[in-house]
Amino acid sequence: MIWFLLLILFLLNLVIRQKIIPDSWNIIFIFNIFAGFLIVSFYVYMRSFKSKIRILEINYEKEELRLSDEEESTTILEYLRKIVDVLGEEPDLEVVLNKFAEMVSDLLKVENVILQLYSDEERKFFMRVLKGRKEIELADRILKEDVIEEGRSHLINNLISFPYYKVLYEQGFRSFIVAPLRRRNRIIGLIAALSEKEGEFTSQKLDILTIISAEAGLIVENAHLLEKTKLLSITDGLTEIYNHRHFQECIRKEIEKTEKANFPLSLIMGDIDNFKNYNDTNGHPEGDKVLREIAQILKRNTKGSDTVARYGGEEFVIILPNTTKENALIVAENLRKKIEESKFPFEEKSQPTGKLTITFGVANYPLDAKSVRDLIKEADRALYRGKEEGKNRVVEGQTSTSHN
Ligand code: GH3
Ligand code: MG
Ligand code: MG
Repeated sequence: MIWFLLLILFLLNLVIRQKIIPDSWNIIFIFNIFAGFLIVSFYVYMRSFKSKIRILEINYEKEELRLSDEEESTTILEYLRKIVDVLGEEPDLEVVLNKFAEMVSDLLKVENVILQLYSDEERKFFMRVLKGRKEIELADRILKEDVIEEGRSHLINNLISFPYYKVLYEQGFRSFIVAPLRRRNRIIGLIAALSEKEGEFTSQKLDILTIISAEAGLIVENAHLLEKTKLLSITDGLTEIYNHRHFQECIRKEIEKTEKANFPLSLIMGDIDNFKNYNDTNGHPEGDKVLREIAQILKRNTKGSDTVARYGGEEFVIILPNTTKENALIVAENLRKKIEESKFPFEEKSQPTGKLTITFGVANYPLDAKSVRDLIKEADRALYRGKEEGKNRVVEGQTSTSHN
């Protein structure tokens, strides 16, 4: 177009120069100037039009990028929602945390992920799961200032330049991102992803981590509540050991396992001697303290695989999976001694022997009984034989042998 107009101008000039038309046609000269002005204006307009188009193009590209970001966020959110649905009913917090750590590792394509939970009341981190390396020590700076005090997400791509993250550098890491886990303005933990490569993380990856941490906060709290509720429903309120209902459930399951594996199982049942005396003399609240203390003695002196429960008022039961009667008798005798030797307040005043003691009955499956019901009955019978024989002793099922 511009070239076409310039060509016309050139031809006009030529016509004037060759005197094809008279000099008086100055109008052509004026037109010449006007046309030049038009051409320059047109050129300027085209320049600005082009730059407008460029701006539009840039905006369009930005919009496309934004859309793809949104698409990515939507995909992550959809993925998260699915996990929320699956994990919503999962009461085991550790399973939930492991699932999240795995998900973060997948989404960010990072090998090492840590998820740690924080307790407001105790002011400390109390549970952690790791994906990747078996042991990672996070820098104090992350645990205290960055996450708990400031509650900020962080992206560090060149660890060597930050002396306060030295401990991570020393473990071979070169970059990391971390985001706090929140629930209703409370910080309940953190998620961190770490890499041995410098510059591994982008702000987009940090955004992904932040989205995940928001959802994780909700699920972690749910799982926590579920776990607490479940624990409450199987715990005895006074002694904080398992309650009668959980004992019944547990012994049924253990007997099933025992049948399959063909191992023996033993049951110890205990009843505090002359506890009515203790209550009557020292009052119920003092009696409650004794029940709590005895429960703790039983717990402290049995294996983690054993189940200690409150059977009723001042009666306790202990399930010992994969344990012969001989070994169960040794455990019971040890417990009896521990209780006899423990100092309980006012025992000399209220107890007939001056000491607070307990009597135990021990029964074995399949030696003494062939069903759960008979096993409990047999332990109970042995216990009451112990009472008849003078208390503060261990008595085994079926045979009337007693140990003192
Ligand atoms: P024995 O040696 O024959 O077992 O005598 P005992 O006095 O222990 O037996 P008894 O069954 O006559 O009394 C049990 C007492 O345990 C009755 C009750 O005062 C007390 N007890 C039961 N549950 C609780 C409880 O939750 N708290 C307190 N403080 N006492 C309880
Ligand atoms: Mg009693
Ligand atoms: Mg009793």
